[in-house]
Amino acid sequence: MARAHVVGAGVAGLVAALALARGGCAVTLHEATPVAGGRCRALPDGTDNGTHALMGANHAALRFLDAIGARAGWVEPEPGGLPVLDLADGAARRIAASPLAWRDPALRPPGLTAGGLLALLGMALPLTDRPVAEALAKHPALLRGFVEPLTVAALNTPVAEASSARLGQVLRRLGGAGAARLLVARDGLGPDMIAPALATLEAAGATIRFGSRLRAMTQADGRATALHLGEETVALAEQDQVVLALPPWEAARLITGLKVPERHAPILNLHFARAGEGPVRFVGLVGGLCQWVLARPSGVSVTVSAADAETEEAVETLAPRAWAEIRRAAQAFALAGDWPEATPPCRAVKERRATPRHGVGIPPHAPRRPLKNLALAGDWTWHGLPATIEAAARSGEAAAKALLPRGRA
Ligand SMILES: Cc1cc2nc3c(=O)[nH]c(=O)nc-3n(C[C@H](O)[C@H](O)[C@H](O)COP(=O)(O)OP(=O)(O)OC[C@H]3O[C@@H](n4cnc5c(N)ncnc54)[C@H](O)[C@@H]3O)c2cc1C
Repeated sequence: MARAHVVGAGVAGLVAALALARGGCAVTLHEATPVAGGRCRALPDGTDNGTHALMGANHAALRFLDAIGARAGWVEPEPGGLPVLDLADGAARRIAASPLAWRDPALRPPGLTAGGLLALLGMALPLTDRPVAEALAKHPALLRGFVEPLTVAALNTPVAEASSARLGQVLRRLGGAGAARLLVARDGLGPDMIAPALATLEAAGATIRFGSRLRAMTQADGRATALHLGEETVALAEQDQVVLALPPWEAARLITGLKVPERHAPILNLHFARAGEGPVRFVGLVGGLCQWVLARPSGVSVTVSAADAETEEAVETLAPRAWAEIRRAAQAFALAGDWPEATPPCRAVKERRATPRHGVGIPPHAPRRPLKNLALAGDWTWHGLPATIEAAARSGEAAAKALLPRGRA
């Protein structure tokens, strides 16, 4: 039986490992840390590192959830359109992310005009690449109320810097039926993705090794010939295959000459210990600190993407600011339960290299298979999308396909 070593148990590595195991390989998954999930993981107390949302258009991610039996845990909290509160003027509206729903004027983004629609179309079918703020300069209300929140969420890059062509990759995918449905994990990334993924892998015969960091790799004649994992060296036989499902800086350290994205952007998440009975809710805020608020029975989480300045701030000043905004959102959209004035205990999770920055220009192109027996995976290796769960899942599928014999992928 062919042996496959998958290095990195983030989403890309989990997807690749499952595809290889189901394709008939004896899989060993090596993860440097004590837990799986990478940038999409549960912390030791069960809190998500950060809120992760999926869209209906994320077919590879949803395929993976189906494959691990976890699809039912991902719920659509706002089927009637995303509630968005503008903190500057107090306007509370529902906005549909899908252009198909804009036939209903009540669900249109604020400031949407015929000219604004053309500007969006221009980004979806790009002839040029420029900063999103520049592409929407003539439509400031549309930029503020819809395009900026979408850009910051999907590209994790401020609009003054974010690539309009990269945003176009997202816009093009929102048109299909059900494509813009927003889904979140009902109980958390641990129970709703990582635990079922590990259980499915084990049931498929894979071995999972935590604390197994790939320190170095020996290469000869265009092949990987040995993996130096922790204290151990694994010699690779002729038939053995390797998937490196690593963040860009680790892949660049291991493969000489590999071009990878070098600039990254942080995401800040604030998790408030506020238990409630109500249904899962997801609310957008414009014009303040909080960008998205996820209220689940287990707690309330705030996401601040492209958080260059905010990650430098202390939780003691961030938490009361955020909580005051959350209370306004709770009132505007009648979120169930009590929302007391006193700020509940809050924990800040700062992911400093959450994703690459998606600025203007062509990103470095990583080859899928830089060595004969080695394929790369990872969100940054999938060029058709910004770095997301979907990009990671697609890259994992593609890496497995590149290594499996035809007909077994
Ligand atoms: C706070 C936050 C919020 C986000 N929100 C969203 C969202 O709402 N929707 C969305 O689609 N995406 C979101 N993302 C992006 C998404 O999490 C990533 O795109 C995705 O998880 C990347 O997966 P990956 O497998 O490519 O990489 P990673 O998750 O980085 O996985 C790489 C793995 O390799 C391991 N590793 C590193 N070096 C070694 C080594 N030498 N040897 C062995 N193992 C090693 C790491 O520990 C890690 O487990 C968010 C990211 C963050 C941080």
